[in-house]
Amino acid sequence: MKYVPLFLFCLVTLLLCQCKKQKESVLISDLNGFVLQEEVEGYKRPCSQNINCAPDEYTTKKTIRVNLHFIDSPEQNATWPLTEGRDYLKKVIANANKRLGKNQKMFLPVGNDTPVLDPGFRYKIVGVEEGDDGFYYHIDSLHYFFINKGKNRNNYSRDVMKKYAVAADSILNIFVISHPQDSLSSKTYKAHGAGVALGTSLKITGLYSRRDDPPWSWGTLLNHEIGHVLGLAHAWGSDGCDDTPVHANCWDRHAKRGSTGGPCGEGYSNNVMDYNNQQMAYTPCQLGKIHKSFHLMNSKTRGLIYDTWCDLDTTETIMIDGKVEWLCARDINKNIVIAKGGELHLHCRLGMASGSGIKVSEGGQLHIHSHARINNACGETWEGIELADKKNVAKMLFVYGQGRITEVKRQLADKNPQL
Ligand SMILES: [Zn+2]
Repeated sequence: MKYVPLFLFCLVTLLLCQCKKQKESVLISDLNGFVLQEEVEGYKRPCSQNINCAPDEYTTKKTIRVNLHFIDSPEQNATWPLTEGRDYLKKVIANANKRLGKNQKMFLPVGNDTPVLDPGFRYKIVGVEEGDDGFYYHIDSLHYFFINKGKNRNNYSRDVMKKYAVAADSILNIFVISHPQDSLSSKTYKAHGAGVALGTSLKITGLYSRRDDPPWSWGTLLNHEIGHVLGLAHAWGSDGCDDTPVHANCWDRHAKRGSTGGPCGEGYSNNVMDYNNQQMAYTPCQLGKIHKSFHLMNSKTRGLIYDTWCDLDTTETIMIDGKVEWLCARDINKNIVIAKGGELHLHCRLGMASGSGIKVSEGGQLHIHSHARINNACGETWEGIELADKKNVAKMLFVYGQGRITEVKRQLADKNPQL
């Protein structure tokens, strides 16, 4: 089969105003045989539904950049020296990553058949310049302690973050903070683990007071707080996810439901975003919420991950050989081939890596639904759509209403007309 590639650029007559800004755009309607499809009546875009963004076989794996700050008292007795703190916290991060790789099935509702997905993200400790490994030590009499009760509570204060956060728009800053030293000397004070997420940073406390505990015992607290940074709410209430039912937030099966209820029995949760003795389960909807934000151009959490979708991976090709509907935005770093009998339906934004393209084989179909968009989210261009049979454009390419194709490498087509 000899392919006749066509590089398609922008839109349709209705979108001339948008195309004005893109000087290199031409109209799809200029293609021989191309017919712009009418918007389907009553069509609702599915892109905002969390569950539609749950990771699947096509999802690009994400790496979240993190760094760690140790805040010490002037007496230098509120946290580890840097070398020891680094060793301990590296193990905590490693454990948090390990738990992500062991995502568990949700306990609730009892008897559920909720699927278990790989979360599709992990953490990596990074610095910002040479010789900077992402671990920082500060002595600060005002900010070394964390109080989450009483008149001096400062857990929601962002002061320490404002003062010390490094590259907060691209790295998740983790502040390891102590309980107040005067409280620790009280026999009745419980130096419990606690945390709070504020913007793209978080504070955790209790680690140094309980430094004899193994590092793996903190992986769940870290995953919980990072879950908040990534947009998750507590799962026992209404959190926008159907697969995390409202429940009593029992610690374990022996706990009581509230102050007067009976024992929780099987009615306790193992979700990361509940308070329980497990904290090992992320549901598809929760993961969808996280990935929806990763795929939202300019979102705060998108800034925290490596843009691996920009580096074309030619070792694998995404092959579409049945009907596939992409109901959420996504970024792809592989070429896509739609085989004979295959249909790819795009409903949201599809980001294509620089140098990548979509090839539609004879008998294959690409549907760009209204307001869907294929773009390059790397400030560069992608190669465009290649149709196997130029004579059958109308049977291969379907663009509805406000569907768009942008950032295509026009230059290639101009300079290589034989393509
Ligand atoms: Zn929480």
